[in-house]
Amino acid sequence: MTRKYNFSAGPAGLPDEVLLQAQEELLDWHGKGLSIMEMSHRSKEFVSVAETAEQDLRDLMGIGSNYKVLFLQGGATTQFSMIPMNLLRGKNTADYINTGIWSKKAIKEAARYCDVKLAGSSEENGFTAVPSQDQLILNPEAAYLHYTPNETIGGLEYDYVPEAGDVPLVADLSSTILSRPLDVNQFGLIYAGAQKNIGPAGLTVVIVREDLLGNVVDGAPTMFDYKVHADADSMNNTPPTFGWYLAGLVFQWLKAQGGVEAMAELNQRKAEKLYAAIDGSDFYANPMAKANRSWMNVPFTLADDALDKLFLEQAEEAGLLNLKGHRSVGGMRASIYNAVPEKAVDALIEFMQQFEKQNA
Ligand SMILES: *Cc1c(COP(=O)(O)O)cnc(C)c1O
Repeated sequence: MTRKYNFSAGPAGLPDEVLLQAQEELLDWHGKGLSIMEMSHRSKEFVSVAETAEQDLRDLMGIGSNYKVLFLQGGATTQFSMIPMNLLRGKNTADYINTGIWSKKAIKEAARYCDVKLAGSSEENGFTAVPSQDQLILNPEAAYLHYTPNETIGGLEYDYVPEAGDVPLVADLSSTILSRPLDVNQFGLIYAGAQKNIGPAGLTVVIVREDLLGNVVDGAPTMFDYKVHADADSMNNTPPTFGWYLAGLVFQWLKAQGGVEAMAELNQRKAEKLYAAIDGSDFYANPMAKANRSWMNVPFTLADDALDKLFLEQAEEAGLLNLKGHRSVGGMRASIYNAVPEKAVDALIEFMQQFEKQNA
């Protein structure tokens, strides 16, 4: 068996150690004679798995007791609707910052529920830099301010946390959660689909300040009310048990690696050497403002896009998988989440340099 290097944007690679542990426990979880997948979510065994996962995430991110941590389904995309449905709290307007495809999707959905005001946009610079705090036009009457800390497709990441005063800050952390330290207290709500930096697809994590709960719009489906999930410890119905369990294994793995501080150091090193290789050549290019280059998703183009196909074929032969850029952008994209080891980035850089030598 050979594990290849996986640069998928999502569902993304998982740590080998986590997959091996899941394999070992698959048929007989902790001597119970059955798989975790086959257990009642209300069994004391699963409840302990669920509680441990939540506590480990709380430890890793320093989440205070005034926040609820929810383990939901529906992906980050469902959060695009749940956020306005729950956080408008009688107001009729919310602020959004547009930095790319994911923020646009969030804006489009929110516009079904309220008057969306653009607090800032990267449109003028072709989505290559995020607006600075000074450039933001914040509405004190907004129910919340929504932004996308890392645009997974464009490869654009904020180098600061927007300050919105008393207006709750909402962040789509799908592709950057747990990649570096963050002060949760600056946020009203954080959400992330699990399939990038947490675990398998099918699980969505929401971290929400308790005082924001209990104001869902009239007529909202029960399953779209955060308070229902918070009151039921995310077990109002059957939760995604296997995803929750695997996320828990990833959280334990992260703790063993030294937590988010250690991951940040590693992630920064991985990203810097890949960008240095791109910048150091006339053959590869990345157009993002240096301060806003994503540590997690590194898009790059080849000097001649007629070579894209050959690049991808030869990369695959070299054991480097899923480097094709998003269909809306083209070119290449290397997603280098927590679970992608530094030696995978080294192998990619070596391959890129060889490919350039042969084809430039
Ligand atoms: C992948 C992604 C989404 C969509 O996630 P789903 O779980 O597929 O709904 C939303 N926002 C960001 C930033 C993403 O990277």
